[in-house]
Amino acid sequence: MLVDFKNEPFTNFSLPENKQAFQTALAKVESELGREYDLIIGGERIKTESKIHSINPSNHSQVIGIVSQADQELAERAIQTATQAFESWKKVPGSARARYLYKAAAILRRRKHEFSAWLVKEAGKSWAEADADTAEAIDFMEYYGRQMEKLAERHALPRIPGEDNELYYIPLGVGIVIPPWNFPLAIMVGMTTAALVAGNTVVLKPASTTPVIAAKFMEVLEDAGVPAGVVNFVPGSGSVIGDFLVEHPLTRFISFTGSRDVGLRINELAAKHRPGQKWIKRLVAEMGGKDSIIVDNDCDLELAAQAIVTSAFGFSGQKCSACSRAIVHQDVYDQVLARVTELTQNLKIGDVANPDSYTGPVIDDKAYNKILEYIEIGKQEGKLVAGGEKGPEGGYYIQPTVFADVDPQARLMQEEIFGPVVAFCKARDFDHALEIANNTEYGLTGSVISRNRAHLEKAREEFHVGNLYFNRKCTGALVGVHPFGGFNMSGTDSKAGGPDYLLLFTQAKSVSELL
Ligand code: GLU
Repeated sequence: MLVDFKNEPFTNFSLPENKQAFQTALAKVESELGREYDLIIGGERIKTESKIHSINPSNHSQVIGIVSQADQELAERAIQTATQAFESWKKVPGSARARYLYKAAAILRRRKHEFSAWLVKEAGKSWAEADADTAEAIDFMEYYGRQMEKLAERHALPRIPGEDNELYYIPLGVGIVIPPWNFPLAIMVGMTTAALVAGNTVVLKPASTTPVIAAKFMEVLEDAGVPAGVVNFVPGSGSVIGDFLVEHPLTRFISFTGSRDVGLRINELAAKHRPGQKWIKRLVAEMGGKDSIIVDNDCDLELAAQAIVTSAFGFSGQKCSACSRAIVHQDVYDQVLARVTELTQNLKIGDVANPDSYTGPVIDDKAYNKILEYIEIGKQEGKLVAGGEKGPEGGYYIQPTVFADVDPQARLMQEEIFGPVVAFCKARDFDHALEIANNTEYGLTGSVISRNRAHLEKAREEFHVGNLYFNRKCTGALVGVHPFGGFNMSGTDSKAGGPDYLLLFTQAKSVSELL
């Protein structure tokens, strides 16, 4: 019998043997930088003229890998191949499909530090953030495998006299998987393997800033024996192939994680019926966040400050779960602000290949310029109390930045920045804090730091977010433990890592037989 799902433990890097093992993995990855990666369609490796140069955000001059990009002709081939592969893949029993995931999880576990080292290099994650990303990828496969086994069981329905009634979950068809760069392993793996374990075939368009990690994961799927054509790997730009894939009449569903604007665009394109299309396309979308931590007047102030700093500045705030708004009760506002400022100023910034670096770079020049623009806006809208400058040269470094006394309606309090910037806003009382927390168009994560039971109960009812946390940080959702996804403009509340997730990639068929 299968052992129960258990989250993959994080690595303790204070142990010398773990530190040494990670240094070895980094050295291995270092020796493999700059290689070429091909498209994979139906198991065939294809090189193209047009390439993505993936670079190290900690050090622009370092090329991580050179990845072939698909044009529309190859995107078409990928969809046709996935369509053919679906005919046989859908017939593989759910429990057998689950075994591919357990096998892939075992391979990834054996190569854990190597994958985390790629995350350090290609995404600019610190050791701990990279390790958590890889652990989450393993978790998704172990978890969705088990969920598929449950889903594949016969679901008997109430019998009426003389009739046998059943419900089955069958796959949808070809899915376009468009994952983000910020969890380039975990979320990409979760989205891809959920779709395939449910019996669908996939056209995977990895994020253009992190395609090498995705290419490496294709090796894992191949090693696990996933048949050719079940997952087709087509890196490419949104404008050249993204719209094309979404609009294609053979596309049955789109699984997307990324920004609000791109999500809305996909929603619009997917909604339009195309000649030859036999279905209404399904969209599973995880979009942005503008997440708050509320600090009550009766609470552990040190815990509050630590929760804000970790949630705002882990991976330089490049999480849709990141805290970008600290809403603090007026009685404790000055104390919390002072402590957060102090903690922020002590964060060590630099190349994340160095285990002592906490704050690494942001992902690319576009993000870098956008965040610096928001810092300028912040200087008009609030009082700069920490950071506010570029970091060291050579990488896309930005100092962790804190603004105080920001108005609840200010742009800094409303717009997703996706960088190391947190705005403080003063609340008159707890009700006022809740009102501010609910005043954005998003609804992804939120935390309340309070000892007041009545306030926690009120927040439980009224704080309108998909992932609500009490007396802890608002990042770091664990697979199975904190099913993840949000309300409103944060997406379709599709709860990745939750018991209902696989249903999104299936359709239910009810069968009745007269006995
Ligand atoms: N699941 C992640 C967390 O809880 C965030 C995912 C994301 O940023 O898309 O921190």
